[in-house]
Amino acid sequence: MSAVVSLTNVHKRFGAVKVLNGVSFEVGRGEVAAVIGQSGSGKSTALRCINALERIEEGTIEVCGHAVHDPKLDRRALRRDVGIVFQSYNLFPHLTAEQNIMLAPMCVKSLSKADARTLAQDVLARVGLAEKADHYPEQLSGGQQQRVAIARSLAMQPKLMLFDEVTSALDPQLTGEVLKVMEDLARGGMTMILVTHEMSFARKVATKVVYMHRGTVWETGPGAMLDDPQTPELRKFVGGEM
Ligand code: ADP
Ligand code: MG
Repeated sequence: MSAVVSLTNVHKRFGAVKVLNGVSFEVGRGEVAAVIGQSGSGKSTALRCINALERIEEGTIEVCGHAVHDPKLDRRALRRDVGIVFQSYNLFPHLTAEQNIMLAPMCVKSLSKADARTLAQDVLARVGLAEKADHYPEQLSGGQQQRVAIARSLAMQPKLMLFDEVTSALDPQLTGEVLKVMEDLARGGMTMILVTHEMSFARKVATKVVYMHRGTVWETGPGAMLDDPQTPELRKFVGGEM
């Protein structure tokens, strides 16, 4: 299996605070990696390093053939291959769902308006929102807005999708509809790394679980590892989350 993402001995500090302390893991094509761990363990930082939103001090990060650690990295080329979705949807409030999605394909990929609209309708259908194309963000629920944000990323046809706690701000019912979209994406073969607190989702959908503790990968394995933790730290974490 060819690795889409490969982190090797990654170190990152913010001032005096060491946040990543030798992080290594790989994600192969079509894999779904769930990154779990308590608040402050470095999950978001690791994800941001993968997309070159943070610079690392030591180690290497290869993503879709890009050497992310290289100071000469072509960030635009990297970000054409990698989609990222955060907890906050960051949709433009004055644009409809469809217009929010059309923006990047037109600006970055120079698609015509007609082609961008066709594409937007296609990705909206994939997240189950075909009939909401003309709605403005404030007319949509939080879960629907998050699905538009996911559709917006999909419109760029990424090779890798990163999700950072995308359901944390949603109530359980809306969480379910967003997780369903992510599960469909996973089943469709999308390579994904998701930071999540949804342990049952991680167990069901993830091909690999990465448990981070104090800036390192403390334990990693298939989803089933959550049923049989090898370290006291993961046992305690899983116990608290369930
Ligand atoms: P997680 O996502 O697992 O909760 P983060 O990666 O967000 O953890 O944060 C790990 C640690 O790094 C925390 O102690 C946090 O306060 C610190 N940190 C994150 N981002 C910054 C930043 N931009 N400046 C300073 N400290 C930061
Ligand atoms: Mg975080």
